[in-house]
Amino acid sequence: MSSISSFQRLFGLHEDFKQTPLNLSPKTFQAFTLFQNKAKDQGIDLYVASGFRSFSRQASIWNAKAKGERDLIDDYGEKLDFNELSPTQVLFSILRWSALPGFSRHHWGSDFDVIDQKALAQNPDYKVELIPSEYEAKGIFENLGAFLSREISESPFFRPYEIDRGGVAIEPWHLSYAPEANLLSDELTYEKAKDFIMSAHYQEILLKETVLEHFDEIYERFIRPL
Ligand SMILES: [Zn+2]
Repeated sequence: MSSISSFQRLFGLHEDFKQTPLNLSPKTFQAFTLFQNKAKDQGIDLYVASGFRSFSRQASIWNAKAKGERDLIDDYGEKLDFNELSPTQVLFSILRWSALPGFSRHHWGSDFDVIDQKALAQNPDYKVELIPSEYEAKGIFENLGAFLSREISESPFFRPYEIDRGGVAIEPWHLSYAPEANLLSDELTYEKAKDFIMSAHYQEILLKETVLEHFDEIYERFIRPL
């Protein structure tokens, strides 16, 4: 693993967890395997659908949405008409479902999205969407959702997007390894976040001016740690 600065780690300016098992940090991976065993005992094949995602990956998702090349979805899952939206409306509709580049937590190596491989094996044609209803009663990952609600408080993991704070839509599948993630989220102050957006790293990020115009609100609703 390369030696990266805490700044690079905080904002995902590295590719360190691209080659690690399940794209997790070594400590998170270790804790995950224990949690995976617990899930197995309860009939769930816990699997990481998505782990590490670098700043540059987050940036390309962001820019594709900001250009209207990727669908924008409203709060109810309906597709929005890109051409009818103002830059501010585009910005906030992206933020509902995708993080501002450098703020997704997926670059920390401590955060990842989980699915139940067993449920998928039983429904081989099913296309996973990662929507809350999949983790609720009658959803394909109902058992996993119930397992997480039951066991997560006894584990070193937590769900940072468990409730809707008027910001990011709820993500019952997104787990965070507290011992590592909390160290990083403690560093994520208002000043550091704003400095990063004003730095050269944000040169290519679309809607940057609109982000800065609404930065206080964005920090409060989408960035500030709980
Ligand atoms: Zn996630």
